[in-house]
Amino acid sequence: MAINNPLKLDEEALKQRLTPIAYTVLRHGATEPPYSGTYNEHYEQGDYHCAACGAKLFESSSKFESGCGWPAFDSALEGAITYLRDHSYGMIRTETRCSCCDSHLGHVFDDGPTATTGKRYCINSVCLEFRPIR
Ligand SMILES: [Zn+2]
Repeated sequence: MAINNPLKLDEEALKQRLTPIAYTVLRHGATEPPYSGTYNEHYEQGDYHCAACGAKLFESSSKFESGCGWPAFDSALEGAITYLRDHSYGMIRTETRCSCCDSHLGHVFDDGPTATTGKRYCINSVCLEFRPIR
């Protein structure tokens, strides 16, 4: 499904600011290669924000090692994520997008490690910007 631009972000400015892979993932729904991301094995305390618009999406307390090669979280901030049915590649998956700017983030699956949520948010590292707790 086409990615919208509800915040009227300047696509050209985004392209300049972000790396080419980050731009392609966020704004065109691509996927970064597994094990390539800065935040795949990153466990500092802080918050993960949308790399396109800066909205807060995940807290480090929900991050876990999934072994799948992408940063994984068992929950997202309330209202931060938009969920879309994704039928691409012959699979039925749930795509996750930033609720603020509609940028693609990754997918969410129902095989998470915690009984509380049961969710595994599999998120492209390039879509995230980590801000440590000071
Ligand atoms: Zn965003």
